[in-house]
Amino acid sequence: MKGKHFLFALLVALTLPSILLVGCAQCQHKFATIWEYDATYHWHPAICEHTDEVFGDQGEHSFVASYAEESGTHYYVETCSVCGYEKRTALAEGSTVAIAATGYPNLNSAINSVQTDQTIFVLQNFTQGALTQINDDKSFEINLNDKTITAGDTYLIKQYSGFVLISNGKIAGTGGLFVGGGSLECHGVNIETTGSALVAHDSAIIRMEDDCVIKSTGEDALVADGGAGKYPFITLEHSAIQSPSNSAVCVGEASLIIKHTTLTGNKSLTLKKDAVIDHCNIDIFSSTFNGGYSFEATGIKIRTADMMRLLSKFNETDFDGKTVTLEEDIVVSSTDVINDGIISDMNGHTITVV
Ligand SMILES: [Zn+2]
Ligand SMILES: [Zn+2]
Repeated sequence: MKGKHFLFALLVALTLPSILLVGCAQCQHKFATIWEYDATYHWHPAICEHTDEVFGDQGEHSFVASYAEESGTHYYVETCSVCGYEKRTALAEGSTVAIAATGYPNLNSAINSVQTDQTIFVLQNFTQGALTQINDDKSFEINLNDKTITAGDTYLIKQYSGFVLISNGKIAGTGGLFVGGGSLECHGVNIETTGSALVAHDSAIIRMEDDCVIKSTGEDALVADGGAGKYPFITLEHSAIQSPSNSAVCVGEASLIIKHTTLTGNKSLTLKKDAVIDHCNIDIFSSTFNGGYSFEATGIKIRTADMMRLLSKFNETDFDGKTVTLEEDIVVSSTDVINDGIISDMNGHTITVV
């Protein structure tokens, strides 16, 4: 008997702790497929006898931000992409734009407050009464959210520094955007105004793509105006420029690259200043020009085959009394329609047809 008791005690001593330690791992807890959560974490609740002891796939919420409107109040909504837990923050009454969970009554106040890498989100259509000037060297985004901001002043924004990305929506009113320095990039933005929709001045760097529309119903749609070696650099891709006047006009030095873009106007393109042309680097790729060309400068220097192709679209009489000088040897394709009669000074260079 004594020996049996000892053996039993030994078995208990050896096995009991191991049951306590590894028993739960062996018992294979069962968890519900639903999520439970608190403000910070989510988990699958146990449906074995270990409820309140073990939590399946526990982790912190992974929030995706969005906005919602209910009975005239805008909310900043954070939704966990794993469990669906939703946190709502009501924005201040009268908010038209927001940066994360903070609402602002207008674009001016939001742009004054925005920090680098933040997004200003447009909550509803509104009119911006006073012009916004961007003089800070910060980099931010304005997500128009398929809404329309109407410029109540001459322009909606005058930008002099920093980088601004504007996406998906419409800018309307008198003038759209004036960029006099800094960089602007637009994706899917429709600027439609009664005055010039986009004015690029001095050292502006502008890139427009993904079906942007630059449209004026009354004046030149796009105006590029540089000077003193500070010329705007503009790239337009897969977009459209429209005006009853000039769709695009260079009134000063500018660099204009146009790809897969349609220009529609009484004049598609107007070159107004000699100085412009000296620095004008106009490359045209697969673009459509619906409208004439106006060449009002007194002289031009041709540096590229693209420039030559472009000038071949102008009326020959545009060049009467003007100086057209070849500045580089250029090579054109035999399929190009090139009017080399417009060149008044070959300047020792050659045009090679291949
Ligand atoms: Zn269990
Ligand atoms: Zn969650």
